[in-house]
Amino acid sequence: MSINRGTIVPVKTVEEQLAIILSEALNIPRQRAEKLLESKATRILRYKNIRYIVIRRDIAGHYEGTTILLDEQGGYRLIEGYPHIKRILLLKKALETHFIDKIVVEEKMDGHNTRIVRFNGELYAITRGGYICPYTTMRFKRKYGEKANTIFDELGEDTIIAGEVVGLENPYTRVYYPEAPDWDYFVFDVFTGGLNPLDVEKRRALVEDAGLRSVPLLGVINREDYEELRRILEKLERLGREGVVLKDPYYRVEPLKYTTSYINVKDIEDGMRFPFDEGHTFIFPRLLRQMFKAYEESWDEQRIEEEALRLGRALLVPALESIRKYSMGEMLGEVFELTFYSWEDLEDFVSHEAMLGVPLTILGVQEYPGILRARILKHKHTPEHYRRIFRTGLSPLD
Ligand code: ATP
Ligand code: MG
Repeated sequence: MSINRGTIVPVKTVEEQLAIILSEALNIPRQRAEKLLESKATRILRYKNIRYIVIRRDIAGHYEGTTILLDEQGGYRLIEGYPHIKRILLLKKALETHFIDKIVVEEKMDGHNTRIVRFNGELYAITRGGYICPYTTMRFKRKYGEKANTIFDELGEDTIIAGEVVGLENPYTRVYYPEAPDWDYFVFDVFTGGLNPLDVEKRRALVEDAGLRSVPLLGVINREDYEELRRILEKLERLGREGVVLKDPYYRVEPLKYTTSYINVKDIEDGMRFPFDEGHTFIFPRLLRQMFKAYEESWDEQRIEEEALRLGRALLVPALESIRKYSMGEMLGEVFELTFYSWEDLEDFVSHEAMLGVPLTILGVQEYPGILRARILKHKHTPEHYRRIFRTGLSPLD
């Protein structure tokens, strides 16, 4: 276009600008980007003064949960989604076939996956699904902001710190850990230049030097050391912890995960408090894990009896309890107790959840000097199903 006096410069609409950025960021044709922006595969959201695009499925080699952060000047940054970790069913076989020589055994902590990134000097905490979580961003910055900044200063702005938020005070996964009773963050990966992981040793040293915490290191074994790994797992089993993620020290092959019998059944138990929400999708995958565990570990009669009773109770007892509660008119849902440091933080969190379509009820807020403690109920779908069943007496399934 030649520019003369009187030339009209066509202004790009916001949609056009987003399509250009998306096509560039994902390296896909413009038309495809336009279609994606109109479809459910993407969402455009706002957090404070930035906008971002969430990629909700695997697209063009990028994982679900990939996020593109946009600034007001037209700059952007693509944050890759956290890769799926394959699950082991038969431990001995997987050790022998998958790994090369050494295997780093890291604890698999049960919380929620959070990527920490720095964009234009600001830290953001991004959930597995690719959303900036205002609550997690606030808690992380308060506890580790300065420390994390030293890592970005050292490794550069295109670094991703990935870790698990653990403890009771988060809006997603409430599991008590003695070393992290309320809220803490444990790093399990540091990526640079996209998704290139730092070697385990280097990563752990970096995290320690910066003053952050790493997930526990439970051992470094050879791939023949099945028995040693079994001993590590038996200890986790006794402590009621989730399991392990097995990693090649240099990430030459992808990590694999394996969980304890304790957590396989515990998940069912938790899920069955809301049978029509988590319950029904939880059951078969966890049963499968137990089936192969029982086989591989040659459970004896006594162990089978114990496990069968525990499994049966996990399937029935919480579900029955929830039906009884419903029948007595109690509100069914999950209650979270969260800490905020200002009303603005609380509002940011509530409006973020509303934007995602998560129905919440604030049960109460207690104010202390500089701290707010909020009890928040997340609603579930299970009560709607119960309502129909109680009204008609009929099964929604068959
Ligand atoms: P996916 O199966 O897609 O990985 P999921 O939500 O089913 O996701 P999990 O079964 O919990 O995930 O297992 C993978 C997750 O485990 C990771 O995304 C991470 O959040 C968590 N995790 C906990 N500890 C570790 C660790 N030491 N190394 C890697 N991931 C860990
Ligand atoms: Mg998990």
